[in-house]
Amino acid sequence: MEEPDDMSHTLTVLWTIEPQTPPRPWLACSRCRRTRPFECSGKTRLNANGRRLDAWLIYRCADCDGTWNRPIFERRSVCDIAPETLDALQNNDSGWIRQVSFDVEGLRRNTDTIEEFAECRVTRRVLAQSLDGCTQLEIVLAVPLPIGMRTDRLLSAELGLSRNRLVRLEEAGRFRLQSGPRKALQRPIRDGMRVILDLANGGKQGDVADRATGRLHSA
Ligand SMILES: [Zn+2]
Repeated sequence: MEEPDDMSHTLTVLWTIEPQTPPRPWLACSRCRRTRPFECSGKTRLNANGRRLDAWLIYRCADCDGTWNRPIFERRSVCDIAPETLDALQNNDSGWIRQVSFDVEGLRRNTDTIEEFAECRVTRRVLAQSLDGCTQLEIVLAVPLPIGMRTDRLLSAELGLSRNRLVRLEEAGRFRLQSGPRKALQRPIRDGMRVILDLANGGKQGDVADRATGRLHSA
């Protein structure tokens, strides 16, 4: 009849959520003679003009070979460019290019029409768990690249709980989000958000813990 100790009876899991497909800007293609989606080619172009540099990320029309050069910076003095950015551009660094290709806010400077893709990959790592059973589940969300997916959609798909069930659990005080904005459940996932779920009362909750850790895969 002891008071449950939250710290030692919490199963803590880190979920790293990464989008799979970069957003596609829709732009006028001079070859197709209409507005088409453009896809990141994974290549950059760097052009020197004296001590000033121009850099672009190259996109290709999804229908033809037409290209669009997305400006990264233009006529910038070498000493105003971060050395790691310059290094990434000179070496076509795939990690850096991936980061820029998912920068949807940056793309909005070039077009209002941007196609975003919801699918993402979730990698799970158990950070802490109690050996004599856990009464509480804590999921820490790491979001290295911006994602448009709503928090409830992610949790529903990954934990096997309907969105209505999440709302009911929240109302019953058995589920809550920490470090998120107001009404975080209906908003896009944010880096550093924490999901706290009460695992007591048996039932399907064992499945939820197994899904959270990846022992059981969602259909
Ligand atoms: Zn085209």
